[in-house]
This record gives sequence, structure tokens and C-alpha cells, in this order.
Amino acid sequence: MASRVRVALVCSECGARNYKTTRKKEDKERLAIQKYCKACERHTLHQESK
Ligand SMILES: [Zn+2]
Repeated sequence: MASRVRVALVCSECGARNYKTTRKKEDKERLAIQKYCKACERHTLHQESK
């Protein structure tokens, strides 16, 4: 089984932790996805947090 790490996706504008996901440990790139932020009330860029 490939090892997966649990990460939180954090709004890059207000810092709210809106989503949780997993990714492959081998992936070096940090996730960055456009997702809806309740606090900002619109789609913002969400980045993986440590
Ligand atoms: Zn936000």
C-alpha cells in the first residue's frame, strides 16, 4: 500500500482550515486547489498545510 499523508487545505486568504484530504507521500508538490471558503464566501486558493 502506498503511504498517504493526511493534510488540511487552508484558505490562502483568511487561513481557515476548510477541507481535509490525503495525498501520496511521494508527491513533492504542495497541493493548491480552488475551493469554496465559507469565511470568504467565494472560491479561493486553498493550500496544503503542514
Ligand atoms: Zn477564506
